[in-house]
Amino acid sequence: MANFEKILIANRGEIALRIHRACREMGIATVAVHSTADADAMHVRLADESVCIGPPQSSQSYLNKAALLTAATITGADAVHPGVGFLAENATFAEMVREHGLTFIGPEPEHIALMGDKIEARKTADKLGLPLVPGSDGAIDSEATAKRMAEEIGFPLLVKAAAGGGGRGMKVARRPDELEEALRLASSEAAAAFGDDSIYMERYLGQPRHIEVQILSDGRGNVIHLGERDCSLQRRHQKILEEAPSPALNSEERARLLGLCVDAVRKLGYRSAGTFEFLYENGEFYFIEMNTRLQVEHPISEAITGIDLVREQIKVASGAPLALSQDEITFSGHAIECRINAEDPRTFVPSPGLVSDYHPAGGLGVRVDSGLYAGYRVPPFYDSLVAKVIVDGSSRNECLMRLRRALEEMVIDGISTTLPLHRLLIGEPDFLNGDYDIHWLESWLATHA
Ligand code: ADP
Repeated sequence: MANFEKILIANRGEIALRIHRACREMGIATVAVHSTADADAMHVRLADESVCIGPPQSSQSYLNKAALLTAATITGADAVHPGVGFLAENATFAEMVREHGLTFIGPEPEHIALMGDKIEARKTADKLGLPLVPGSDGAIDSEATAKRMAEEIGFPLLVKAAAGGGGRGMKVARRPDELEEALRLASSEAAAAFGDDSIYMERYLGQPRHIEVQILSDGRGNVIHLGERDCSLQRRHQKILEEAPSPALNSEERARLLGLCVDAVRKLGYRSAGTFEFLYENGEFYFIEMNTRLQVEHPISEAITGIDLVREQIKVASGAPLALSQDEITFSGHAIECRINAEDPRTFVPSPGLVSDYHPAGGLGVRVDSGLYAGYRVPPFYDSLVAKVIVDGSSRNECLMRLRRALEEMVIDGISTTLPLHRLLIGEPDFLNGDYDIHWLESWLATHA
């Protein structure tokens, strides 16, 4: 087992800070990387060392594999943590890190590649015993195949990109006459966003919830789960708010789902943190994808288990066996995360610019993960997530009371953010009752915007 002395964090913003914090507590030195637009960012200020890796455009900085590897080499880092997004699910990068004699803090490149192709992921999940959304067996190679498969699957259906992510490359066909257009749009969006136009189809579920399972494994047969998260509050297939545990599951359903996932990971021989995502409708679970990395919403699982997922991820990557067993994990209370984006809360148009005032919420049960500070300028080049407000309580009700109070306290001035949206949502009876599916927020927005 190799104990890391220095980790290069190949990311930016709140997630880079999150990883820095775990390293700090473990006595591991950190190297931050940054584009020229991020020279004043908090993740750079707090790290032990920092390296400028290129101009603002992500393609030339945070996605620049050669620059990242050079930075790791010249600073003498012994491992690279990719964070979330950018190269976190890039098997080639993971392989290159390995070839440079460094450790990639994540799974084996083979597992990243396998799950990164959603068509292969579906086939693998099926073999591992996970229930799938009814859909096509493989890629759609012609319009004739698509029509034949569509008849079998039934309408409405969803055309999805094999390389998809972030809710992109997905088009609904409600009726047979919408199929051609959905195929064309999904494949051209996929080609533009991912450089891969392969597509497949799934039945489009009408009222599902999005429920995902956090797992942690050392690749030596020791596998644990940290429960599930409910991420049904979404806009354009992107998560806005997440909670754990899911208000929709009873204990039998929960135990069945968690058991299936632990079994699947063990069979796969997977190492690291990972997440299985499912849709849940009428008492049935349907696998949609596996994310082979940390998730933005991981803190709510940390809040209900008291386990530092990043620390465990680093330990497992260093070759240590998982020190935790399932019976040592106690689940307590309830946690909710609100994603605060630098966007107009009605139109969702990005709102970069100078943060004139910043006051994070605090107090018992409140955690704010953010790189913001008064005087910071949010650059226009990256994802608009600027803060995560994570609140926990001994019950869902206590958590909701705390969340309302925390959202009231929080101040981010100078730019528009989605804070006002969260303040409205927290007063909505459907949300308060836990009674919402993946389409709820869009319908709500249509009548409230
Ligand atoms: P991505 O990788 O782009 O996030 P996912 O496959 O994880 O794509 O799906 C993201 C979201 O899209 C889901 O949480 C859900 O809201 C919606 N979605 C995906 N598949 C289906 C489906 N078969 N039916 C209805 N909604 C779906």
